[in-house]
Amino acid sequence: MHKTYKTRIAFILIVLSVLSLDIYGSYLKVQSQPPVNHTYAGSFVNHDGIIILNYHRILNESWVVKGIKAVNNNEQIHTYNVPFSEFKKQMKFLKQHHVQVISYQKMLEMTKQPTIKGQYVVLTFDDIDRTMPENAYPILKQYQFPFTFYVITGKVNKDMDGSVMASWSDIKRLAKDPLATVGVHTNNLHYQLNNKPVLSTDISHKRLRTDYQRSQDAMLLHLGRKADIFAYPYGAPNQYLSNYMADHGIVSMVTLDAGIVISGSNPKMPPRVLVNDQSWPNFEKWISDDK
Ligand SMILES: [Zn+2]
Repeated sequence: MHKTYKTRIAFILIVLSVLSLDIYGSYLKVQSQPPVNHTYAGSFVNHDGIIILNYHRILNESWVVKGIKAVNNNEQIHTYNVPFSEFKKQMKFLKQHHVQVISYQKMLEMTKQPTIKGQYVVLTFDDIDRTMPENAYPILKQYQFPFTFYVITGKVNKDMDGSVMASWSDIKRLAKDPLATVGVHTNNLHYQLNNKPVLSTDISHKRLRTDYQRSQDAMLLHLGRKADIFAYPYGAPNQYLSNYMADHGIVSMVTLDAGIVISGSNPKMPPRVLVNDQSWPNFEKWISDDK
């Protein structure tokens, strides 16, 4: 081989490896959420009811993601990200099994019924980075599935842990769709201190109130209405904030506590299931189990 040619190839290889390290680095940054073990095994005890499913990022499964998944056993990779190909399969599964995907509002109304017959699903999305409007939304639209999404109002259009969050124009576009319900996910209290969600620390009540008001002000400013539903970051609730929000317009707040919504469930704090590669098989089993 010619010497210059060799040098050129070596140079290209070096550039490629630096680039892939960079992608690898930003990919890992996405994972800086607390480790949770949400397999939800054994929690789907009722045959009939409503399961609220929760998604975060719907990532394109490029070779980088695949490579990392193969070599890195870090549970968080599997916990908060669902590959786009999996998401498509999951939505198809719901359609093929005639699972009734309902809106959050419909779910709240159904908890007041004397009984709930059949199996229902509410689809929820937290944080709202760009993969929600770019990847998830077209699929939801295709199947005409109602969906609910929770916005971190102070992070819109910004970088968060290596993810680029959706813009207000994206969020407006989604919110305009009759399939959509929009909630808040704090204004700027979606982070951790010493590996603890900030809402689980002794944060001042004043900060909690101010943050909540800011999130509602942003909703009003950008979407023309306040939200009446809320999702706790990392699924970690705060008693003071719950009481305060209940007195100031929030009718229902979700965590990530296991369970099925049934008749008589408390609509103020229904259970919710984080979708990951351990919980989804249990969910499929729930749908497929004929009792
Ligand atoms: Zn979140």
